[in-house]
Amino acid sequence: MPLFDVERARQETPGSQHVLHLNNAGSSLMPQPVLEATVAHLQLEAQIGGYEAVERQQEVLEHAYDAAAALINCTRDEIAFVENATRAWDAAFYSIPFKAGDRILTSMAEYASNYIAYLQVARKTGAVVEAIPDDQYGQVSIEALRNMLDERVKLISITHVPTSGGLVNPVAEIGKVAREAGILYLVDACQSVGQMPIDVQKIGCDMLSTTGRKYLRGPRGTGFLYVRRELIEQLEPVFLDLHAATWVSKDRYEMRSDARRFENWETNYAGKIGLARAIDYALDWGIDNIWRRVKELGYNLRTQLSPIPGVIVRDRGITQCGIVTFTVEGVEPEEIKRRLAQQQINVSVAVQSSTRLDLEARGLTTMVRASVHYYNTQEELTRFSAAIAQLADF
Ligand SMILES: *Cc1c(COP(=O)(O)O)cnc(C)c1O
Repeated sequence: MPLFDVERARQETPGSQHVLHLNNAGSSLMPQPVLEATVAHLQLEAQIGGYEAVERQQEVLEHAYDAAAALINCTRDEIAFVENATRAWDAAFYSIPFKAGDRILTSMAEYASNYIAYLQVARKTGAVVEAIPDDQYGQVSIEALRNMLDERVKLISITHVPTSGGLVNPVAEIGKVAREAGILYLVDACQSVGQMPIDVQKIGCDMLSTTGRKYLRGPRGTGFLYVRRELIEQLEPVFLDLHAATWVSKDRYEMRSDARRFENWETNYAGKIGLARAIDYALDWGIDNIWRRVKELGYNLRTQLSPIPGVIVRDRGITQCGIVTFTVEGVEPEEIKRRLAQQQINVSVAVQSSTRLDLEARGLTTMVRASVHYYNTQEELTRFSAAIAQLADF
């Protein structure tokens, strides 16, 4: 196994000196170069003016599209930058023209915001939403998906890695089924981009959304959407403005022909520059290297937590990522989070209302979520596990 320069990763992560951060699935600690790029743009805005700052940073801002395209293996005209992953996903989903009887097939581990959108569209159009059952490992069952297909299936919409655990859904196998059947395929890759290699060609998806603040380690309030070239001009965004379209005559406008038809004119430029820097930064480390290390740390953490009496690790799936979820008998996750915070240890709590189908099916209401990133160390995991052992020992 090639050595990962954790020392350098930590030197470039100022927050790692202050906190034991295991909330990377919530919002990762920004590395210094990302922080500097973001702040520098705000300073430029303050010094020379917001419009003028954009003009001066034109090259950097355009580079953002190349960076995102390199990260997920598409072309720059297939990328739209928006304010977060949810809006990126919404921009794609709400542009699909559903009608009564259309079926939306989704995953059990689907994220609440997506599912709420399915319900809204179902209520308004008469489309129906159905969850594809899990297989014995807890991931989307390819066999079940095949059995559900018919001419009414309009969309397959899958969360790659859920907010609530180590599960990695088999998105490429699902993509193969979607392509064979000629069905639109949308992937929520919010937790996977920046954590593991993402190749939209291999996944075979038509649309994919992600965020800046999680495994990419970018600023909050940033995200982007991928839309496959051939599809862009078939999808009409729900919102159009003078950036997404041009007003050409008294009764006509023309939409952009690239994915930027899904963007807004006004945007957080400092955030966009920060996200671009975060993407380059991730690419510099090498996504394969990042993935190898995150997977290993996740595995090590599960291995350390499992033997602690009263602790049950809850992650499912064949391939498991850096998100580790567990419960401790007799201690509420919120209480664990609170006690850990007193020791400068950050975790979050996975709640049923975020991934309701999955947690209800498993009879769970809440879990502790400890999500590792490559700059975490084995020593930190040992300290964390000792803290959990102490909390569990009542
Ligand atoms: C966090 C998360 C989102 C939402 O991301 P935002 O950037 O907050 O919009 C969407 N899907 C999944 C699976 C997530 O974990």
